[in-house]
Amino acid sequence: MKQITCPVCETATTQDTEFCPECSWDIDRSAGELIIGDPAELQQEAERKQHKLQQYRTLYQQAKRVEGFETRLAELENEQRTTRKNIAKLDVGAQRMKMLEQRITALESAQSQNPTIDTLQNRLTALEAWQQGDFRSKRLRSEPRTVSENDMQTVFQVRENGRPLWYLANDFEVQEQVIRDHATSLMWQRGGSEKGLGYAEALTYIEQLNREQFSGYADWRLPTVNELLSLMIATQENGDLYISRAFDVRQRWCWSIDKRSSLSVWGVRFSGGLVGWSSLNGINTFVRVVRS
Ligand SMILES: [Zn+2]
Repeated sequence: MKQITCPVCETATTQDTEFCPECSWDIDRSAGELIIGDPAELQQEAERKQHKLQQYRTLYQQAKRVEGFETRLAELENEQRTTRKNIAKLDVGAQRMKMLEQRITALESAQSQNPTIDTLQNRLTALEAWQQGDFRSKRLRSEPRTVSENDMQTVFQVRENGRPLWYLANDFEVQEQVIRDHATSLMWQRGGSEKGLGYAEALTYIEQLNREQFSGYADWRLPTVNELLSLMIATQENGDLYISRAFDVRQRWCWSIDKRSSLSVWGVRFSGGLVGWSSLNGINTFVRVVRS
């Protein structure tokens, strides 16, 4: 089968095809005619054919262009659909972004209104201090004890320098010669010995108070360090003493009943705000008695 090229669309096809499969040009007629006649008429016929071919070719090209436009139009419509979808996605994205921003603002606002970790830590520390200092339901140690330097910090609940780890919130009821502390259920002498006494003299002084029934009672005794520390406050309120003004200012340093060794006894210095000790012969230490 002989291959020919369509004169309109230039598609290759076979000679026995009647019409071009691409542009429908009448191939059969344009190809196989044998014409005999007047050369002038043949010339005219040829020109007419040529003209017709040209017209058809123009039509074909226009049709191809339209087809091209249609394809392009379909492409554009498709692009438009895709763009619309993308815009919708962007809208969803923008809405989501807005929601996230609102959530962040809400979180920031909540954070500014709620306590920070530091604040919570402070509250926790305060609560722990309160718990340690809450002796309304727990009695302070009243039994004497021999306490070594090593055990001082844990037994007396003081720092290395002898200062208290915490201060008790007192609840004083001041009377003429005594002060009741409802926080500890202890009754204290407001004053104490007029001067510093050695330890033996101190014990004699207390015997005398009990014999005379000082303020109506005969069970006065030397306090433990822990009991003395329950009177200590964090600031120098009474002259230079770390004790309430309700007490006499003379007893700057008080004996406790707790021994440090066979030759020394623990005491509390209200002047320095700390725990210390004196030898049994020390004479600068005062007595302030207590009863439970
Ligand atoms: Zn063709």
